[in-house]
Parts: sequence; C-alpha cells; structure tokens
Amino acid sequence: MTELILHPGKERSLLRRHPWIFDTAVARVAGHARPGDTVTVTDAHGRPLAKAAYSPSSKIRARVWSFDVAETIDHAFFKRRVAAAVARRIALPELAGQDGVRLIHAESDGLPGVIADRYGDTVVVQLTSAGADKWRAAIADSLVKATGCARVYERSDSEVRGLEGLEPTTGWLHGDAPAGDIVIAEHGVRMAVDIVAGHKTGFYLDQRDNRRLLAELARDRRVLNCFCYTGGFSLQALAGGAASVVSVDSSQPALERAAANLALNPQLDAARAEWRCANVFDELRRFKTAGESFDLIVLDPPKFAPSASHAERASRAYKDINLLGCKLLAPGGLLMTYSCSGGIGLEFFQKIVASAALDSGRTARIVRRLQGSADHPVDLAFPEGEYLKGLLLQVE
Ligand code: SAH
Repeated sequence: MTELILHPGKERSLLRRHPWIFDTAVARVAGHARPGDTVTVTDAHGRPLAKAAYSPSSKIRARVWSFDVAETIDHAFFKRRVAAAVARRIALPELAGQDGVRLIHAESDGLPGVIADRYGDTVVVQLTSAGADKWRAAIADSLVKATGCARVYERSDSEVRGLEGLEPTTGWLHGDAPAGDIVIAEHGVRMAVDIVAGHKTGFYLDQRDNRRLLAELARDRRVLNCFCYTGGFSLQALAGGAASVVSVDSSQPALERAAANLALNPQLDAARAEWRCANVFDELRRFKTAGESFDLIVLDPPKFAPSASHAERASRAYKDINLLGCKLLAPGGLLMTYSCSGGIGLEFFQKIVASAALDSGRTARIVRRLQGSADHPVDLAFPEGEYLKGLLLQVE
C-alpha cells in the first residue's frame, strides 16, 4: 500500500476529521500511486491516520475515504456508504414523498467528490474528484441497489474536474434514457428536469425548502424573481397566490424551460407571470429608472465567488444587487437574498447585505436566516459543505 507521509504537525486537521489533505501538507509519497488510487495517510512518524484517494494534479492532494485505517476501500465500502447516505434521507420525515432529493452530498456524506440527486426513478451522479472517478462503477451499482431506481445518468461535466486532471464525462451508467421528459413534483408544482443540458444535475434541489417558504409569503404580493433559471421560485410564488411574478434570467434556454414548466401546471394563473431575458444588474436599474416597485424580491444569483480569492470582486456584485433590491421594495416589502459562494461566509454575506441596506437609505431587519434543504447536510467537521446561505429581510 502506498503511503502519503505528512509534514510534522500537518496531521492536526485530520485528527479533527477534516477530509482534505493539501499538497503543502505532504512530505513525500512512499511507493507508486496513480490518480484515484487509495493511499494510507500517515503522520511524520509513520503513524497511519486515514485511507484516502490520491490526486497528484490537485492542490487537494488526497481526500479521505475512511478514518478507520483497517477499512478496505472496495466495492463493498461504497455499497455501505451509499446505503447509509440513502438511509439518512429516509430517516428525515420532511423528505418523505419528495420526487427530487439529493442522496449524496459529497464530503458531508463521507463520499468526497460524489454528488447524487434522485429525480423520480432516475439518479444523476456527478463525480468531481480523481477518487470518485475511479470508483464510478461501484458507486452507480450501489445507488441502484440502495434506491431501486431504474436509471443512473452521469453528469461529470463540472469545470472543477479540470483541477483533478479529469476530462468531462457524461452518459448512462445504468438503464437507458427515459422516453419523455423527467418531471418531478415539488410542493405540488410540476417541474421538468433537464438532466442532460440543465445546470449541475439539472435542478437546484438545495432551494426546495426556501421555495416552499416563498409560496407561503407570496399571497397578493408583486414578486420579482431574479436569476430565475427554470422558474422554481416563480412557480411557487404563483402557487402561493402572488398578484404578479416578474422573472429575470440572462439565459434564453432557461427561460424557455421556465415557460414550459408553467405550461405543465394549468392550475397556475399564467397571466400573472412575465419572463424577461436580461442581465439582472441592468434590469434592476431599468426598473428603478422606470419607477417600478415590488413587494417581494428574490435574489438567488450564481456563485460569484467560487473560492475566497474571488471574495472581494464578488462582494461588490452582491452589494450591487442587494442595494438595488432594497431600493425597489415597497415599504414593508420582503427581500429573500442568497449567496451560494463557498468563498463568502455567512457573517461576511450579512455584512455585505447590511451595507447595501444602509446605502439604500432603508431599514432592513432579518426575520429569518435561510439555508439549504435537509438533504444537503453539513458535516460539522467539514464547514466548507455549508455553501448556501440566505436572509429574509423585512425592509421599511
Ligand atoms: N433560483 C434558481 C436557480 C438560480 S441559478 C432555482 O431555484 O432554480 C442562477 C441563474 O442565474 C442561472 O439560470 C443563470 O442563467 C442566471 N444568471 C447568471 N448570471 C446572470 C446575470 N448577470 N443576469 C441574469 N441572470 C443570470
């Protein structure tokens, strides 16, 4: 077994059960390992600490599979870990009956580099690390066994694979493409999920709870949904009885999907919905110039800061949209604002929004803190797993 020997003191994060071993922590590699191979990580004295997947081209040189050095990393290991992750979802009553559920949330489920989302009887997996890539077949087989799902599709086309020296890979790992669209029901609203061409695995399951909250808040309000993608928040606002819903996104295909999703739901009043293909930064300014106002604004932008090094520029972008959002709200209006940037922590995000509210000349109060749904758990040993943070503000 190849050994990854750490510099003195660099075992500390592992003893706290953090699963990443950075290149700078590694003193030397004893033996030969190819990308994705399992290595034993030891401290500077040769004391074994963990079994990990080796990734020579990544700054994250290894990711821990198991802190039990006696555990063998084989097909059976993945079967156990995948089954445990699925069982954790089944144990949460709030996830019962959901069509769309994240089954595996990577590091937070003890499976670094593995994402798996279930849409009905199709599972979509995304493998983003060399270790996960190596165990593709075992992971797909374990998902089928644990869920009984008919199909597994791989969407490993995330850019982060490049950092691990991996090429994009997509295709069916189990079963064939279904005859028609994959359609899930979310809080009674039907949504088609484009697993092949949509973002990530096709849908933003992390916002499921927050979309339900929006439906509860929307009655008789004029809603503006910025960065609407395929209309998840927009349709929930309509379902909740919004007076009107204006949705903005810069992607025409996403807006076409959104309009098609609305058509899947004849119970919703399509006359109250308006879709605008535009850059949100420009569109918010146009609304301001036109003297428009709204009662509830959702800001769910893409990741402006994938890592801490982008935080400075990203903070200006967050401030800009939140400032404009505050200005566009009628007195007593609600701002539902998010950041899904790993590089921007909760405290920093709150500071940015506070400074936006201050500059807008409005008084804003937090009435709720928002986070990802329960199927996106955060392992306390791995705070990086907590990427989605949000605030619900009442703005006077
Ligand atoms: N709220 C959505 C997910 C948003 S994903 C949901 O619940 O499903 C982010 C979206 O922002 C994408 O659809 C992308 O096309 C869009 N986007 C990115 N930059 C943009 C910009 N500057 N202006 C408008 N839309 C943008």
